[in-house]
Formats: sequence, structure tokens, C-alpha cells
Amino acid sequence: MFDIPKSMVDITEYRLFTGQCRHCKETVKAQKPENASQGIIGPNLLSYIGVLAGQYHNKYSKNPITT
Ligand SMILES: [Zn+2]
Repeated sequence: MFDIPKSMVDITEYRLFTGQCRHCKETVKAQKPENASQGIIGPNLLSYIGVLAGQYHNKYSKNPITT
């Protein structure tokens, strides 16, 4: 029997605020950390989706993943 751990979700939220310098009035926007994922899906979840879609053919989904 195979199972998955109960706590599989680890969410990291980045709030990128924009502000204006009081002195020179330049608008400055915060940047995400360099090691942050580019999209909303991290590498672990992406690989998990890949296994479900590839190895198990995503047979439980109404909307099969297509590439
Ligand atoms: Zn300034």
C-alpha cells in the first residue's frame, strides 16, 4: 500500500509592496527573493503533478493534463 503524508502543502506568500521615496519621489517596488519560484507551483508540486499525469495517466481528473 502506498500513501502520501498528511501535511503536503507548504505555502510561501510573497507580498511585494510598492512605495515612493519621500526625498526624490522615485517609485520603488519590492522584488521577490532570487530563490523564489517564478510561478505559483513549486518544483515539488510540479514533479508530483508530472508523476500523476505521466505514470498514472491522470485518470481521476475530468480535465487531463496536456502538453
Ligand atoms: Zn529617493
